[in-house]
Amino acid sequence: MTSAAPPDWTAGTPRLVVYRCQLCGHAWYLPRQACPGCGRTEVTPVVSAGAGVVVASTTVWRRPDVSPDGASPVGIALVDLAEGGRAMGRCRPGTPVGARVRAVFVTEPAGHAEHAEDGEHPKDGGRLLPMFEPEGE
Ligand SMILES: [Zn+2]
Repeated sequence: MTSAAPPDWTAGTPRLVVYRCQLCGHAWYLPRQACPGCGRTEVTPVVSAGAGVVVASTTVWRRPDVSPDGASPVGIALVDLAEGGRAMGRCRPGTPVGARVRAVFVTEPAGHAEHAEDGEHPKDGGRLLPMFEPEGE
């Protein structure tokens, strides 16, 4: 890569980072050394505003014996980000394909999700996750 990648949620920073090829313009999510479209290594990281459109979603029901608040359903969405790239994250159960969403970040300690305050790093033992909320709410 030609420039240092900004840290993203996988490194504990509450943001999504997409990568764009300087030659062919292809964009993707999660770091790669080379463009999956043309194979060149001139790659620019772009911090995403987190807005996008749901292209697939599903709902997962957790087993009640491993979830402290019972069998609460968890939505999982694939989202095409405005900057390019397709990201996976949490969503509200039942979020439809085509919904416009925006990423916020939640910290999930020990199987119980709670919202992190802006700029707050995950609590000890917590896991920072992107959560796609409906746009405009
Ligand atoms: Zn390329």
